[in-house]
Amino acid sequence: MPINKKFPKSNTNKKFGSDNRSEDFKTKPGFKKPSSPKKENKPVGEKIFIYRPDMNVAQVAEGLSLTNASMIKKLMQLGLMASVNQIIDRDTIEVIALDEGFKVQDEVITDVTRYDEMSINDDPKDMVKRPPIVTVMGHVDHGKTTLLDAIRKSRVVEGEAGGITQHIGAYQVMRGTDAITFIDTPGHAAFTEMRARGAKVTDIVVLVVAADDGVMPQTIEALDHAKAAKVPIVVAVNKMDKQSANPDRVMTELAEQGLIPEAWGGKVPFVQVSALKKMGIEELLDVILLISEIDEFKANPNRLAKGTVIEASLDKGRGPVATLIVETGTLHVGDYIVIGNTYGKVRTMQDDLKKRYDRALPSQPIEVTGLNEVPQAGDIFMAFDDERVTKQIASERQSRVKDSEVKAVKKTSLDSMFGEIESTEKELNIIIKGDVQGSIEALKHLLEKINIDGFHVNVVRSSVGAITESDVTLANASKAILIGFNVRPTAAVKQAADSVGVEIRLYNIIYRVAEDIEAALKGMLAPTFEEIVTGQAEVRETFKVSKVGTIAGCYVTDGVIKRDALVRVLRNGIVAYEGKLASLKRFKDDVKEVKFGYECGLSIENFNDLKIGDIIEASQMKEVEVD
Ligand code: GDP
Repeated sequence: MPINKKFPKSNTNKKFGSDNRSEDFKTKPGFKKPSSPKKENKPVGEKIFIYRPDMNVAQVAEGLSLTNASMIKKLMQLGLMASVNQIIDRDTIEVIALDEGFKVQDEVITDVTRYDEMSINDDPKDMVKRPPIVTVMGHVDHGKTTLLDAIRKSRVVEGEAGGITQHIGAYQVMRGTDAITFIDTPGHAAFTEMRARGAKVTDIVVLVVAADDGVMPQTIEALDHAKAAKVPIVVAVNKMDKQSANPDRVMTELAEQGLIPEAWGGKVPFVQVSALKKMGIEELLDVILLISEIDEFKANPNRLAKGTVIEASLDKGRGPVATLIVETGTLHVGDYIVIGNTYGKVRTMQDDLKKRYDRALPSQPIEVTGLNEVPQAGDIFMAFDDERVTKQIASERQSRVKDSEVKAVKKTSLDSMFGEIESTEKELNIIIKGDVQGSIEALKHLLEKINIDGFHVNVVRSSVGAITESDVTLANASKAILIGFNVRPTAAVKQAADSVGVEIRLYNIIYRVAEDIEAALKGMLAPTFEEIVTGQAEVRETFKVSKVGTIAGCYVTDGVIKRDALVRVLRNGIVAYEGKLASLKRFKDDVKEVKFGYECGLSIENFNDLKIGDIIEASQMKEVEVD
């Protein structure tokens, strides 16, 4: 009687060609996997080889006290034909270094550690007042966008009225001689995301509540985020122009949430505004400045700049652009900056009015060009005066990110309830690269919502920018498909993807992506499998073989036992173990199968407790049609 047991099969999806990928380039023909270091190796650890990124053959040879010729010979033994100027990877260097008795250590630039900690302590006497940085939050439709717009238009700068503004994610307004910085990406999602990544880009939260609607779920959510960030809150009671406006209700409802209005003896300022009619805007700005006066937000402008990325995108003409808010220090055109995992040299700086600057002071939002890649919103940037240090930090961060991403991928599958093997079958890993954050986010949400009989999409990475080799590496490591939305890979990247079998799919319409992915997931649905018992054997003798384990001498009592069978050990009718065969032999020879009436020797993977009289039941999984 076949036992009906449904097993999902391993990923059979051919559509996206995720099979057949070599694990890394070393498994390709032409590169013999380095054999383990020979016995006669000199003891490792006596000598130290200092590794720097991008070392070429000659430099490595020098570091290992070898001639170029013998270095090249050693590489040839590993299957690598290299010239003296060719850059070799760390793994290969390590193999040769080990062979030569060297221990490999990464170069440490002491400055890097110092800078990368980002905790340069300023002397209090160097600290001067800086403008407050404000984020606007609140329930949808309560008027956040309208308010930010009204504030933007309230600034009185000569020649600015009617001027063309561009959205760069943040802007500054002047009230008298004081400036206030507003983050122009309303919504607590952005706020929290940045906070989660360690960025402190908000000094004050303006909580917008529509006077005709009162406290709503997202009001409370926003409040929770603001409270968690421990920043002062100003309530803007909006839509006061409306007949149905009821500011008292807003006060009562917020008081219930712990926000006691100043008017009632509490600490929280409530300002009545109409964003639409531009009423109460100046009062709101004054309240913000008052808080700023009391809390004394300060920074040291006389040091290299440090701050946060608010927004970033790939501009067709200008390349990667990022809006930064300088938290401390002064950023200059020409400064080298490390920004997230990339770096660059500030080429231009401009604000939302397209006014050019050659320096940006603390709290100033500024859009910069000159970066090598598009960073992510929430990334921290730091300026340096040394290009070498900048590059080194960026490369260290990149490798750190790679490590953590690979770990994250593994973690996802391990943590999930299906266990490692099955969970990878239930997920389609995807990497999204696109031209603007907005469409990437939309696409990510859309794809993550797809669920076809438990099969879903796992977005491993989503970021703005062209498809790079690092994306291909990650896709390969996580068996992911790369999706380019309005971005294309270069020929070199395409070639890299082809060589490891990573599929790149390019789109310019969001719903098309979703359609294709859904279709792919449907195609990926595992066929249903049925377990068919093929035969049984009885254990007549057992032998313990050192290093191999227990071998059972068996007699096949029914059907056939195949080498690739799944086996069950039955002892007195009870299943003692389930697993796979580790070996199947007739006399001394490995065989593919043994039929009824013959004797055989077999062993079971990870099971050494076979006893005389045990019955080995062998089965196989067979695909069945389901209607
Ligand atoms: P958000 O979702 O919080 O960004 O809200 P919006 O700024 O998009 O505003 C939602 C709607 O409320 C829009 O139709 C606005 O015109 C309207 N609105 C915003 N502020 C006011 C206001 O002060 N008075 C009135 N009457 N309508 C407003």
